[in-house]
Amino acid sequence: MSRTTPRAKATSEKTLIPQRSNCPTCHRKMWADYDNRRTVVGLTGAVRLILKIRRCRNENCSRFHKPYRPESEGTFALPHHEFGLDVIALVGTLRYAEHRSVPEIHRQLVERGVSISERSVTNLLDRYDELLAVSLTDDRRLNGILADQGRVILAIDGMQPDVGHEVLWVLRDCLSGEVLLARSLLSSRETDLTALVNSVHDQLQIPIEAVISDGQRSIQNAIATALPDVPHQLCQFHYLREAARPIYEADRHAKKELKKRVRGIRPIEREVENHTDQQSKLILGYCSAVRSAITDDGRPPLEASGLKLRDRLTKVTNSLETVASKRGSRSHLKSLKTCLTELY
Ligand SMILES: [Zn+2]
Repeated sequence: MSRTTPRAKATSEKTLIPQRSNCPTCHRKMWADYDNRRTVVGLTGAVRLILKIRRCRNENCSRFHKPYRPESEGTFALPHHEFGLDVIALVGTLRYAEHRSVPEIHRQLVERGVSISERSVTNLLDRYDELLAVSLTDDRRLNGILADQGRVILAIDGMQPDVGHEVLWVLRDCLSGEVLLARSLLSSRETDLTALVNSVHDQLQIPIEAVISDGQRSIQNAIATALPDVPHQLCQFHYLREAARPIYEADRHAKKELKKRVRGIRPIEREVENHTDQQSKLILGYCSAVRSAITDDGRPPLEASGLKLRDRLTKVTNSLETVASKRGSRSHLKSLKTCLTELY
């Protein structure tokens, strides 16, 4: 049957990069080889994911040319799924905790802006049941995959569709993308999470090499208790996003203000652009330095665009001051300097 609802258009875009840059098997550097793109429909809209895939280039390694995907991909959706984990978690909660029928769940999702057919709701309910039924002891396919790779990089995520709802906890392996355990819990208490991690650890026949999470306090403590000797890395994507949010907003505002004021260079530029004397050339040089500073964007959250712009403009201003003190300030040089020093 062909689809009856239009495919959702992405309203935002996110680039996900693997945290790990060395091969889990041979520990040599893995190179970013290619990009994958997928659109995931979540409760807050459809997001276009750009995934940077790394691969080991050591021909003698058992992971030679095997793709290593960004660990945080599994936070958004299960492999090959169009709908996000948050949608699956909500469908499960509505069905089992609130005993809603499929048409009722469908109506709720549509009201929340999720473009989905009733048939897809039934499919998601099946996925939810499958997810909670995953068992490391009984699943031969899963055990085969894990035995081949010889180790697990464990990621733990909690998905809570709405405040007050149960949290769908998903423990998965980043190397294969497979879910190892999923449980719906009413609480996110440390003892409950420790029990989940212990349960996976006890059933695995192979070692857990590292753990990745968003750094929630209860998760950190649970990992420290259950797996004291395993390195625990915070998912930079989640951790930084949370930490940098207020700074990012302030920085964006500062950049906007700086750009607004720098527009004053345009009249100065216009006055000197057809002149060929030394001073005019000098001024044009400074103006183009200012222009390139404006267009040079930082990449939040690691680089603040506003701070970067301010830094570059300060350098231009300092250089202008040196020139002015040597040559004596002539009119255009002076007005350019005034235009830039008024910024602070
Ligand atoms: Zn390797």
